[in-house]
Amino acid sequence: MRKNILIFGPQGSGKGTISLLLKKKLNIPHISVGDLLRETTQKKTPLGEKINQIIMQGMLVSPDIICELLKHRLEEKDVNNGFILDGFPRNQAQAELMSSIAEVDKVIMLDIPEELSIQRIEGRIQCEKCGAIYNIVSKPPKQENICDVCLGHLYHRADDTSEILMKRLKIYNVETKPLIQRYQDRLISIDGSLPSEESLELIIKALST
Ligand code: AMP
Repeated sequence: MRKNILIFGPQGSGKGTISLLLKKKLNIPHISVGDLLRETTQKKTPLGEKINQIIMQGMLVSPDIICELLKHRLEEKDVNNGFILDGFPRNQAQAELMSSIAEVDKVIMLDIPEELSIQRIEGRIQCEKCGAIYNIVSKPPKQENICDVCLGHLYHRADDTSEILMKRLKIYNVETKPLIQRYQDRLISIDGSLPSEESLELIIKALST
C-alpha cells in the first residue's frame, strides 16, 4: 500500500533518526527538504550561496525555491510506493501547496521540551554519507568523527548553534506547530524523548491501523 508520510517535530526531536529507521522498515525514501537545500548549497552557485545565507540566518527559504526542489524530487521513481517527507510543510502556505502536490496519508509528530532540543542540537553530529545522527554527549560514535554504520565522516551542522537554533525554534512554534490541527485526523503523536527503537515500534503499530 502506498504511504505518503509527513514527519513533524522541533529541532532535535529525532525526525532524522526515526526517518532513517522507518525508511528501512517500510522501504520508502526519506526526503528531507533541509538535505535537499544543503545539497544545493554545496554546489557553490549563486542560488546555493543565497540558500546558505538564509539557512545561516535561521530563516525559511522562499517557497518558489522549495517548491521547485520538492516537485523535482517527487517526480523520481522511488516515490512510487510513498515517501517520508521531513521538513515540509513548515507553514500554512506550504501546507496548501502540499495538498496540490500529493496526498498525505499519515502525519507523525515527535514532541520534546525546548531544553532537550537545545541539548540535542548543540551536541549533534551527523554522517555526511549515510545521514546517521550522533550526539557528542549522549550518543557518541565508537571512533571520534567516524560513523559506526558506514565509516563516513561526521560533521556538526553550521546552523546548529544556540543563536540560530532559537530563531529556528521560534519559527517552528509560531508557524509549523499549528499545522497539527490541519492533520488531526491522520496524526500519530509520539514522545520524542523515548529511545528511537521504542518510538519506531509505536509508529509502526499506528501506521498499520
Ligand atoms: P532542517 O534540516 O529541516 O533543520 O532545515 C534546515 C534549514 O533549511 C531551515 O532552518 C530552513 O532555513 C531551511 N528549510 C528547510 N525546510 C524548509 C522549508 N520547508 N521551507 C523553507 N525553508 C526550509
